[in-house]
Amino acid sequence: MDDDRDRIRKAVSIVDLVSAVTTVKKTGRNHMAVCPFHQEKTPSMSLDVARGLYYCHGCHQKCDIFTFVQENEGLTFPEAMERLAAMAGITLTRDPAAEKRQGQKRALIEATAAAVDFYHQTLIGSDEGLSYLARRGLEEPALLARFRIGLANRTLGYHLPQRSRADGRAIRGRLAKLGVIKETGHELLRGSLTAPYFDAAGRVVQMYGRKITPNLRAGTPKHLYLPGPRRGVFNLDALRESRELILCEAILDALTFVSAGYDNVTSAFGVNGFTE
Ligand code: ZN
Repeated sequence: MDDDRDRIRKAVSIVDLVSAVTTVKKTGRNHMAVCPFHQEKTPSMSLDVARGLYYCHGCHQKCDIFTFVQENEGLTFPEAMERLAAMAGITLTRDPAAEKRQGQKRALIEATAAAVDFYHQTLIGSDEGLSYLARRGLEEPALLARFRIGLANRTLGYHLPQRSRADGRAIRGRLAKLGVIKETGHELLRGSLTAPYFDAAGRVVQMYGRKITPNLRAGTPKHLYLPGPRRGVFNLDALRESRELILCEAILDALTFVSAGYDNVTSAFGVNGFTE
């Protein structure tokens, strides 16, 4: 892995890489680029050709060819390695253990995406879910589709392959690992509207659940997340496209703004849930 990294570093020029996505100007010995990570007209990102590094004097983003590709395209480090290796015509040293880990990670990502889709389809066909949303003025199908809003109503298990089958065990195992299904076999977010949080590459990395079942037992939390870190951003396009943001405490509040025509809105993970 480290050898591959060095080979790629030697083969790929930071100037070529950055020039492919933004304007780069050469002034004397220095190369200055219009920073792709913040809005500007005058170049303030300096490129260190010898060491393959960049630094933006405006937004202070800095690092090397690998992070540049990761940030710019929303990739993980191994994905950025693959991308750069392909660019430089380098064949990566195969690492079966790392490939296996990658494969498992991919399977988990697909399982989460499948759960999000299933919940969205469930909501579209549910009077219970849609009438709750209608009371809050949020039943517009395009809005619900755009943010992949869903409903967990305890039916996920019926739609998975049987536990006695290998594929059934595999997908249940993945959903359990993600926390979508608890050890008891129940869905964590049952009785809730659901909404996914996406990362920069468009992968679901967290899921929010808002209980809508009436007469909950006292002390039942109304707002739930999958176990693990609070990751991802709700309505990431808003952060990319707007300099001004409306920050809401929860996703349904944010949807209210969107449905009223304010697209530049995002949501924290609850009152004390404003993550990095
Ligand atoms: Zn910048």
